Amino acid sequence: MKAIRLIQPGRALELQEVKVPAVGARDVLVRVKAAGVCHSDAHYRAGKSVVRPLPLTLGHEVAGVVERAGAEVAQFKAGDRVCLHYLTSCGECPYCQRGNEQFCASGAMIGKYRDGGYAEFIVMPARSVFRLPDEVPFEQGAILMCSSATSLHALNKARLRAGESVAVFGVGGLGLSAIQLAKVFGAREVFAVDIKPEKLAMAELFGAVPVNAAECEPVAEIGRLTGGRGVDVALELIGLPLTMRQAVRSLAIQGRAALAGITDKTFEVAPYMEVLNKEAEIIGVSDHLAQELPRLLEWARRGALDLSQVITRTLPLQPKAVNEALDGLERFGGEGRMVIVP
Ligand SMILES: [Zn+2]
Ligand SMILES: [Zn+2]
Repeated sequence: MKAIRLIQPGRALELQEVKVPAVGARDVLVRVKAAGVCHSDAHYRAGKSVVRPLPLTLGHEVAGVVERAGAEVAQFKAGDRVCLHYLTSCGECPYCQRGNEQFCASGAMIGKYRDGGYAEFIVMPARSVFRLPDEVPFEQGAILMCSSATSLHALNKARLRAGESVAVFGVGGLGLSAIQLAKVFGAREVFAVDIKPEKLAMAELFGAVPVNAAECEPVAEIGRLTGGRGVDVALELIGLPLTMRQAVRSLAIQGRAALAGITDKTFEVAPYMEVLNKEAEIIGVSDHLAQELPRLLEWARRGALDLSQVITRTLPLQPKAVNEALDGLERFGGEGRMVIVP
């Protein structure tokens, strides 16, 4: 089968002809119908995060059709529409038992530590496979498995309740899902903070109040828009010290800032004024949980989460197209999500 693989960090991805993976008793072989091209894939190609063993097929946002199910897999059969939770896990360690399989020591992420979905087929343990409702196109099913799932996890970690207010810092793939999900949670007001007018226009389309940080100081603006209260929940989805600080400073009394954007830099907090005095919380968000996916898929089925406008382009399973898509992401283009359709 064809697979687009990372051979060496810092080099363009290459097309390789590889064997269709073997299917273990508890595995499902999936014919890939859609694989999202994610900003992290650009980091992997550049060597900014570890990918091993090399060469490795990238792609962690995958939806497709079951080609074959292993002997011990009763819940799936050939032809089923499915999407993949991007982590494999043991199911038995204390983390897995508690439903926190993102900390499983023997877990592995597809497209990073085992072959991913930039290929014609992928093999996955059945416990990481989820049924994709007929109403949800494969392209949307694929990207639900990364940015939308992580946005949902961030809102869950922030314990968003109906009637509360939310500020979303960064209106990329994560942000557009977070805005819609916050509405599903019953958020009273959602503020979308970004510096790109076209992203803010999209956020407004989904019912958010746009805050253009290129034209105003967003903390002051959020303060003004909330009558000086601040927001109950702030999500930082960019990974910049500046916006992390802004997220914390925009909190109301007992507000929660959930940080999902990745950076290795530090950011400043004024402990008394910004955290202790308000009993504010700063919460880390890592990946998402398998148990969160069925609810996400149900909302997508009902149309409460609509990603049709988030996907701007589909690509063939061809290295030139994929490398160019990654080049675009590296330049931080305002483009929406791109999905490989083999
Ligand atoms: Zn992703
Ligand atoms: Zn485990």
